[in-house]
Amino acid sequence: MSYTITLIPGDGVGPQISEAARRVIDATGVPVRWETVEAGEAVMREYGTPLPQHVLESIKRNRVALKGPLTTPVGTGFKSVNVALRQELDLYASVRPARNLPGIETRYSGVDLIVVRENTEDLYAGIEHRAGPDAAESIKIITRGASLRIARFAFELARKQGRRKVTVVHKANIMKLSDGLFLDCARQVAGEYPDIEFEEYIVDAMCMKLVQTPENYDVLLLPNLYGDIVSDLAAGLVGGLGVAPGANIGDGAAVFEPVHGSAPRHAGKNRVNPLAILLSGVMMLRHLGEMEAADRIMNAVIRVLEGKKSLTYDLGGTAGTSEMADAIIAEMK
Ligand code: NAD
Repeated sequence: MSYTITLIPGDGVGPQISEAARRVIDATGVPVRWETVEAGEAVMREYGTPLPQHVLESIKRNRVALKGPLTTPVGTGFKSVNVALRQELDLYASVRPARNLPGIETRYSGVDLIVVRENTEDLYAGIEHRAGPDAAESIKIITRGASLRIARFAFELARKQGRRKVTVVHKANIMKLSDGLFLDCARQVAGEYPDIEFEEYIVDAMCMKLVQTPENYDVLLLPNLYGDIVSDLAAGLVGGLGVAPGANIGDGAAVFEPVHGSAPRHAGKNRVNPLAILLSGVMMLRHLGEMEAADRIMNAVIRVLEGKKSLTYDLGGTAGTSEMADAIIAEMK
């Protein structure tokens, strides 16, 4: 059985980290034919859009993609390519695990949580307008359909992974209608899963709790914007953006990508940590049912981290992106 997987190298540090991940995944021996397609800044001039149609078609056809980060220019007319991709393919669930890894020293221990973020609506619906010269409005969209769907996804994930608790995060005390609807949907779905504990937190209190006692949380369920913010916070608990993987999952396709962005100031310097995208690749292998290959990579990663050699700058080392990948491959042999 061989797989055809769409590979989007990405902008900035994207090409170097995705090459590193591709080499490590290939070293497992899982037969993958990578269909490399470019999106983002690199293709703007050629196609007049950062997200050409053939990129979407490649993902639809292959149903699985590994993606590097894409730059979104701030304050220009272009919608984020990442947001457009998630909306176009209806990748409604963003899954971002944050777990302490052996060998990475952090302020916390025992962190093992998964951020489940609704990926298609909320303030990311991109409905904004100027209300005269001195004011602007952004509209927050929350629907029952999308909220029930993401809540079911979170509870199903909890059940599948043997997790004990789902915590819904909201601001329904202020946004009584929009966040209120999200919360109502979460409560309704919680009633269908009596085996899984359910709790509710207002987002500000959740942030405080996460930096006090992150070990108390398991699966977090959030609307889009809070999910974006809280997943970076969660990444910070376990070693930073360099080690934070993610997946965007829909019924027809799944795109695996690091939480971090294109880190333009590190572009082309062979400097940043390839683990975030590689661990996204490990999530991809598990999604494909390639558990043994996923475990092999994880064991090699842990040996490299514990050995404290060949680490990138963010983990206190001096190795480059490709050297860290080489070290992981060497540990797999
Ligand atoms: P960023 O995540 O690119 O970088 C922030 C900082 O985090 C970097 O300067 C670096 O110090 C650190 N960092 C990031 N990745 C790292 C890695 N692999 N190893 C070590 N350190 C790492 O955030 P930003 O600078 O706010 O965003 C840059 C661009 O990326 C923006 O255009 C933004 O819109 C885009 N972005 C894209 C995605 C995506 O493609 N999914 C996600 C977030 C941001």
